[in-house]
Amino acid sequence: MEHPENNEEYKGLTVNKGVEQPSIVNPYLKRGRFRHRQMSASDYVEGILKGDVTVLGQAVTLVESTNPVHQIVAQEVIEKCLPYAGRSVRVGISGVPGAGKSTSIDAFGIHVLEQYGGKLAVLAIDPSSERSKGSILGDKTRMEKLAVHPDSFIRPSPSAGSLGGVARKTRETIILCEAAGFDKIFVETVGVGQSETACHSMVDFFLLIQLAGTGDELQGIKRGIMEMADGIVINKCDGNNVDKCNLAATQFRNALHLFPAPESGWTPQVLTYSGFYNLGIKEIWDMVFDYIRFVKDNGYFEHRRNEQAKFWMYETINEQLRNGFFRNEKIVSRLADAERMVLSGKQTSFVAAKQLLDDYFAFFLDVKMQS
Ligand code: GDP
Repeated sequence: MEHPENNEEYKGLTVNKGVEQPSIVNPYLKRGRFRHRQMSASDYVEGILKGDVTVLGQAVTLVESTNPVHQIVAQEVIEKCLPYAGRSVRVGISGVPGAGKSTSIDAFGIHVLEQYGGKLAVLAIDPSSERSKGSILGDKTRMEKLAVHPDSFIRPSPSAGSLGGVARKTRETIILCEAAGFDKIFVETVGVGQSETACHSMVDFFLLIQLAGTGDELQGIKRGIMEMADGIVINKCDGNNVDKCNLAATQFRNALHLFPAPESGWTPQVLTYSGFYNLGIKEIWDMVFDYIRFVKDNGYFEHRRNEQAKFWMYETINEQLRNGFFRNEKIVSRLADAERMVLSGKQTSFVAAKQLLDDYFAFFLDVKMQS
C-alpha cells in the first residue's frame, strides 16, 4: 500500500528519508581470520603463568560462571594452576561498612607494594553483592591509587549467591592469582555476619578494622569475630578522634586478654591508624610480616593452610550435595507437600527430611542401575 506521506493531501508530520547506515562489520575483514577462538584450558593456563592479567581476568570470569561447560574448563584450569599456587601471603581484611576498608586497602596496598615489591591482588567476599547494585567490595573505583598501579589486580566479589558458593569462587581465584605471580593477596569482607568465617578460612592473617566510640568494643556480639583476629586496627585515628581511638585500643587490648590464647602462639595486637591521612600504616604491615615470620618458624603457617585445605574439601562436598538435592526435579516437586505435612503436624521434621533424603538417594540408585 502507498504510504500516506507520499500523498500531496497529507498534512501530518513528514519524515525525511534517512541516510544509509554503513555496515558495522568491516567488509574487508576476512571471515575466520580474526574470529574469536574458544580458549582451551591450556591457553588459559599458559596466559596465567605468563602473568597476563587479561587472561587471568577471563579465567576468573570462567570460575565465576554458573554455566556447567565453563565450570568444567574452569576446574581444569584451577587444577593445572595448583602446582604454581600457594606462594603468597594472604591477608583477610574485615570491617563494618564505613569502617574505611576501601580507603585503607588503597593505602595498605600502595605501602606494601612500595615496601616489599611483588604483585598484589585484591579480592572480596560479599554474598550480598550484585554487580549491578550498590556497594561492591573490591571495586576498582573505591581504590583509586591501587587501581592504576601496574602491579595490582582488583576483582570485585563474585555476584550474589550462597555464601559457600561465593567464598569457594574467591578461594579458587586466589589459586589463579598466585599462579599468575601475585605474591600478596588481600581478601576484603564486610564485618557483619558469616562472611568473616569464610574469609578467615582462606587467609594467613586476619585483620579486623574497627572504629572508636561505636560501643562495639564492650559488647559481646563481636566476640566471635574478635577471636578470629590476628590483629585489630582502629581506623580514623586523626584530628580530634585520637584520644577516643587510644582509649578504644586499650579497651580492645583488655578484652583480648579474656580470650583463650590462640593456637598460633601469636598474641594478637591492637594498633591505631588513619587510612585517610596515611598514619600508622607501616606499623600495621610490620606487624603482619612479623606474624608471618613467626608462624613460618613455628610451623603454624603450614598447619593452618593444611587445615584450610581440609575445610574446603568438606565445604565443597556439602555445597555440591546441597545443590544436587535442591536442584533435583523430583525433590523440588515434593518439597511443598513435605512442608505442609510438617506444618499440619502430620509428620515430624525429621521423618519428612529423612523421607526426602531417602527418595533422593534412591533416585541415584535407580539411575545407576539403568546405566
Ligand atoms: P568502607 O565502607 O569500609 O569501604 O569505608 P570507606 O573506605 O568507603 O570509608 C568510609 C568513610 O570514612 C569515607 O567517607 C572515608 O573518607 C572515611 N574515612 C576512611 N578512612 C578514614 C580515616 O582514616 N580518617 C577519617 N577521618 N575518615 C576516614
